[in-house]
Amino acid sequence: MRRAIYPGTFDPITYGHLDVIERGSKIFDELIVAVAESLPPIGPRGPSKETLFTIDERLEMVKELTKKFANVQVECFSGLVVDYVRKKKTNVLLRGIRTVSDFEYEFQMALTNRTFAPEVETVFVMASQDYSFLSSRLIKEAASLGANLTSFVPPQVECRLKEKLKSLG
Ligand code: ADP
Repeated sequence: MRRAIYPGTFDPITYGHLDVIERGSKIFDELIVAVAESLPPIGPRGPSKETLFTIDERLEMVKELTKKFANVQVECFSGLVVDYVRKKKTNVLLRGIRTVSDFEYEFQMALTNRTFAPEVETVFVMASQDYSFLSSRLIKEAASLGANLTSFVPPQVECRLKEKLKSLG
């Protein structure tokens, strides 16, 4: 049985993530979408700030949108991803690649994780080119400017984003 872990922040989940999940669900017998409880103190663009959505909100959205995939489970995790991968008794990490700029960060992460856990392999998939520019950061920026997000996130997520931004004033 091949089980893979797809870790991320999913703040919030987009059509890009869902595309990666669908592809992963076809490659592996079981896919666990692992939602990171919080951002690491330092992210790819310098010191990380807080996530927009709480861990419970992010989990709820990912669960709702992935329930159509019979072999996909959703969990939250904290700490080193390779520790979580080992805890789940597997050795495959799934990540998505969008652009060349993603590649450098993902390459560093994969090799760092390999140093910590040589038995863990990172497998990359490319989402559809329709989503190759899509990121949660971009969605949040566009939402705060009042953009129509229909092509980027499912309606439930768009609704939650609007509510969240309204509640923040
Ligand atoms: P992280 O904070 O760990 O980067 P994200 O939720 O931003 O978490 O992303 C999780 C994974 O999904 C990463 O591998 C990222 O490259 C991938 N991903 C996100 N959006 C897309 C997309 N539009 N197309 C392909 N992969 C994507």
